Amino acid sequence: MISTRIRIGSIILAGGFVCGHGWRYYRRFRMHHHAPTRLILFFVVIPLLAPFQAAAGPQGSYANRPLPVFELHSGFWINLHHSLYQEARERKERSQKEKDARDSQKSSKSSADTKPALTAAERKIWNEAVSFYVAAYADKDLQFSTELAQLKDQLGDFEDCDELSGRVRKFCDAGLPPQLTQILESAAPVYRARIWPEQDRANRGWIARVSPLVISQGVAISERLAEIYQARWPRQKIRVDVTSYASWAGAYTTTDPLRVTISSLDTRNQGTPALEVLFHEASHGIAEPVQAAIIRECRQRDKAIPRDLWHALVFYTTGEVIRPILAASVPSDGSIKGSAQGYTPYAMREGIYQRSWNEYLQLLQRFWLPYLNGSVSFEDAVAHMVSAL
Ligand SMILES: [Zn+2]
Repeated sequence: MISTRIRIGSIILAGGFVCGHGWRYYRRFRMHHHAPTRLILFFVVIPLLAPFQAAAGPQGSYANRPLPVFELHSGFWINLHHSLYQEARERKERSQKEKDARDSQKSSKSSADTKPALTAAERKIWNEAVSFYVAAYADKDLQFSTELAQLKDQLGDFEDCDELSGRVRKFCDAGLPPQLTQILESAAPVYRARIWPEQDRANRGWIARVSPLVISQGVAISERLAEIYQARWPRQKIRVDVTSYASWAGAYTTTDPLRVTISSLDTRNQGTPALEVLFHEASHGIAEPVQAAIIRECRQRDKAIPRDLWHALVFYTTGEVIRPILAASVPSDGSIKGSAQGYTPYAMREGIYQRSWNEYLQLLQRFWLPYLNGSVSFEDAVAHMVSAL
């Protein structure tokens, strides 16, 4: 594949930010030195090359063959970033636990334990990078920190560059803080040699497994969800960065631009349920009209805006839309935990309603499901839910 991109500097003055499995929304100022706006001018597949080799850029960045609805990437820098972040969080938690209970030697197993053996020199470089992440980012949430959301997007945009400083190629200046650029560029050779090949393989495997479902069902599901949420599905494909680690939730979404990050290794994202995770996350970017309607109805009734009802509704809706489709396509090898109807939606399977959303589940079954079945209007369904709170 040959792709040429034009980067155009841009300033976005305000935007929203949506999380993966917790909901917040706030305005923010953001500035890009280089640009999220990218035009792919040429897309030439060289048929004699193996598909993965053909797709690989200088860093092994990888975007799958064109799919409807989504654009799936396995990018080098964004994976390095999430790996360092994950290890920094683990190191911090470990040192906290050791402080709390010095006699307990059985701390949780870290990724450091499973990492391939590094030479002393490599370990020193890697540990310095992790230490930097402990100090700079371990306390910040991938989902809620504007700084981390912007950083992730920048690293995704520069996936085809083998540097971030622009020393060799001017257009590879990612405009990151100098110390971070230096840390990432020093850790890159260690990561590329020891860790990245396996992570990239896992990412590509995940992409290859979910792609047939996206091809066969993606357009129909996106149209149905847009209709339900009374929203327009984005005209551009939604970028999905597939990474080894993607927050405690296994996946998260940020907006402006709308981008999804999904872990290829998280057990919750495997098999056909991966399709539901993709559409749940994408719904974070399109289900805003429901949130607005809930808020409006609450204000009219002078009620407190229910925390997370919107998020429970997104879980429920994605599950209900996808359940019949996946029930028909569940493999016969028994690899998917099924219900009597063949497919158990994510929130049911992972016990999300049972934790604290039982009341919401009842509201959704009583008042939102009739809307999904076409027997009441959007406005009435939301009004009934809010009235019953
Ligand atoms: Zn979510």
